[in-house]
Amino acid sequence: MRLHVRGHRLPDDQPVQWWIVDGTLSAEPVAGAETVFDQGWILPGLVDAHCHVGVGPGGAVELDEAIRQAETERDAGALLLRDCGSPIDTRSLDDRDNLPRIIRAGRHLAKPKRYIPGLPIDIDDESQLPAAVAEQARRGDGWVKLVGDWIDREVGDLAPLWSDEVLKAAIDTAHAHGARVTAHVFGEDALPGLIKAGIDCIEHGTGLTDDTIELMVEHGTTLVPTLINIENFPGIAERASRYPVYADHMRNLYARGRQRVAAARDAGVPIYAGTDAGGGITHGRIADEVDALKGIGMSPTEALGAACWDARRWLGRPALEHGASADLLCYTDDPRYGAAVLNRPDLVILRGRVF
Ligand SMILES: [Zn+2]
Repeated sequence: MRLHVRGHRLPDDQPVQWWIVDGTLSAEPVAGAETVFDQGWILPGLVDAHCHVGVGPGGAVELDEAIRQAETERDAGALLLRDCGSPIDTRSLDDRDNLPRIIRAGRHLAKPKRYIPGLPIDIDDESQLPAAVAEQARRGDGWVKLVGDWIDREVGDLAPLWSDEVLKAAIDTAHAHGARVTAHVFGEDALPGLIKAGIDCIEHGTGLTDDTIELMVEHGTTLVPTLINIENFPGIAERASRYPVYADHMRNLYARGRQRVAAARDAGVPIYAGTDAGGGITHGRIADEVDALKGIGMSPTEALGAACWDARRWLGRPALEHGASADLLCYTDDPRYGAAVLNRPDLVILRGRVF
């Protein structure tokens, strides 16, 4: 089927039209194409830069539920997902041309009892971390995910999992395998070691200080704050009453989190939109994260770019260009208006097929 769409592109609002042949975008007119969209805005597929396909509220899910999660993301316009760690093998989803593209980080790497039970590969002896990183780098799609900090029940508070030395060795190993590294970090103390070791991205980052923000700028580290997931911190604190220091710490991180992410943005740290869908967040909420990014000072266009064209460039995937896969969204109303518009595209086109 040959299709034609016409509208305005973003961020520059210029008129644009595309033809779609055999699942691919063409900037050149194609004979016999049916015009399926003729006024409004045309965007590359949205990006959820932090989600977990294969994880539900109770932990790992069956493959058919993972497929439903991916369908939910597609229907909300998220056509490119950076999976930040999944305990199940979702590679067979790549064979289904009706599902979003997934960039996998393999499985979370943690120490025993230092992350959500059942999700990570537990590493008893940290000297094994570089080898574990190498294995995940080979199995993933260019990313490796570390758990950078978590509650240490013996300390009764958040604490880093890894020594600075092993982090350097592990991150160097990932880079030697052509993979980038990111880490889950809620608190303050794990950040200097990770950033100085050359980590590529920080997830959450609620514990950023002015000093660690400066380190991120110096090292070119990126931030995916998952703002809608930070809303779960008060509930985490509530359930942690046996660990009052930790509970207070989580409340404190919650109270300062948005201001810290805003400070990182002001300092020039690149920030992208991720929901953390999978555990405490349901799939299909990228539009809510875009709205939340406006709350830390991003303009509507900048916030949308963080979940769209800018995120695609960061992940090394094409936006709308001649010869690229036709993964696009059409909106009659301005998608910068808010989540009510953004999560209801008038047309979702994935690999040239209309949904
Ligand atoms: Zn996550």
